Amino acid sequence: MRTVETVAELRAVVAAWRRDGQRIGFVPTMGNLHAGHFSLVRQARESADRVVASIFVNPSQFGPNEDFDRYPRTPESDAEGLIVAGCDLLFLPTVDEMYPLGVEHRVHMDVPSLTGILCGASRPGHFDGVCSVVSRLFNQVQPDAAVFGQKDYQQLAILRHMARDLAFPIDIQGAPTQREADGLAMSSRNQYLTPEQRALAPLIQQTLHWLAGQVAAGKVIAGSVQAARQRLTDAGFDVDYVEVRRADLAAATDNAMEERVALAAAKLGCTRLIDNLLFVPAL
Ligand code: AMP
Repeated sequence: MRTVETVAELRAVVAAWRRDGQRIGFVPTMGNLHAGHFSLVRQARESADRVVASIFVNPSQFGPNEDFDRYPRTPESDAEGLIVAGCDLLFLPTVDEMYPLGVEHRVHMDVPSLTGILCGASRPGHFDGVCSVVSRLFNQVQPDAAVFGQKDYQQLAILRHMARDLAFPIDIQGAPTQREADGLAMSSRNQYLTPEQRALAPLIQQTLHWLAGQVAAGKVIAGSVQAARQRLTDAGFDVDYVEVRRADLAAATDNAMEERVALAAAKLGCTRLIDNLLFVPAL
């Protein structure tokens, strides 16, 4: 696996592959890679001849009081894991390389129906930053396919919308959430948890399963959501949101025969955890 730090080097490598008629898969990350990230690389490999991964802790998607400075940065072990997963090229840009005009002078991006809800409501500007970095990475790498985790369900929906609306000729693929043995969704932020918080953390996923079961069985959404929220609060979570929406993230209505998604975000101490579960009504 080759590692490059500039857009010029990246473009030169990818252009050579393209001249050989090879298909390019792409996996953007913020590093501190775990089995979830590596599963995306393996999925990208399935439909591409070459896989590019990027590691960039993107300042524009962190709020002023969020964990940008302390976000774990482990490029050496990340590179080792990427080699094993089958990555061909690692792009490790600097902030200046990614934002040549300065982060504060960047183009802003918004998907009105999707960026103000759920995580977007509590993290203003977060998805602007995500779209900003992913769109520039798409222009730099020019992949045929890009793989994103369904764990960040709203992010995936927004990026699909962005790619379609801005005519990026890229197949946006979702990949299943990889979990620890007790069901906790893998996340670079899990390592912030104390042992007590770590023991509590799988309750998010368990609560989403319970909530999906209630709603799938025809229970009123509002009451079920309230009960799920209470269950997490009683256990010691600082709940940001618990919601049931249609799979496209539009508002869900009771007793509709449609695919839905239960989503939650909650803090344990300073650590914000998110998870989601797709489900269909019981027949
Ligand atoms: P991040 O480094 O957290 O920005 O994540 C980079 C990519 O990995 C995103 O597409 C995430 O959705 C995806 N990802 C993060 N955690 C998981 C997981 N547990 N399972 C699958 N994909 C994941």
